Amino acid sequence: MDSERLSLILTTLGREGRRITTGRRAVVEALVSAEGHVSADDLAASVSRSHPGVHRATVYRSLEALEAAGLVEHVHLGHGRSVYHLIDDLHQHLVCEVCGSVEEAPPELLSDVARRLRTERGFVMRPYHFAVLGRCSGCATDTPADHGGSGRHRPRAGRVT
Ligand SMILES: [Zn+2]
Ligand SMILES: [Zn+2]
Ligand SMILES: [Zn+2]
Repeated sequence: MDSERLSLILTTLGREGRRITTGRRAVVEALVSAEGHVSADDLAASVSRSHPGVHRATVYRSLEALEAAGLVEHVHLGHGRSVYHLIDDLHQHLVCEVCGSVEEAPPELLSDVARRLRTERGFVMRPYHFAVLGRCSGCATDTPADHGGSGRHRPRAGRVT
């Protein structure tokens, strides 16, 4: 576990005027040591292993408190599935709807879109709340996209069983 990162986050939490409870500390520890993307249930399971005295409900409440303090953010990766991040690790997510892979993309990926929405519509986008859905490079090459260069229309072959 990256203990320097852990203490930096806990220091920030204290500076926000929030109490560093056992539950909050356990959740931050679980997030720091997590590999990949974890849901609230994953976190609850990991905390119950590391801190058997911390109840599941405490984990959910702690997550809410950490989110309210601006230290943790959730992102929806698809239908109903949301995962948690520490705020010091901002990035965009590219989720493949075919194989389910999650790729991390640079945080500024959608900044042009955000700027345009702001100037043209006064809409303030929250670019990290949802993932970008589509097909990863591996899955996309199975059915090449038609870029319309030749103007050819290739009908999809019917499946005969
Ligand atoms: Zn992520
Ligand atoms: Zn894929
Ligand atoms: Zn949400």
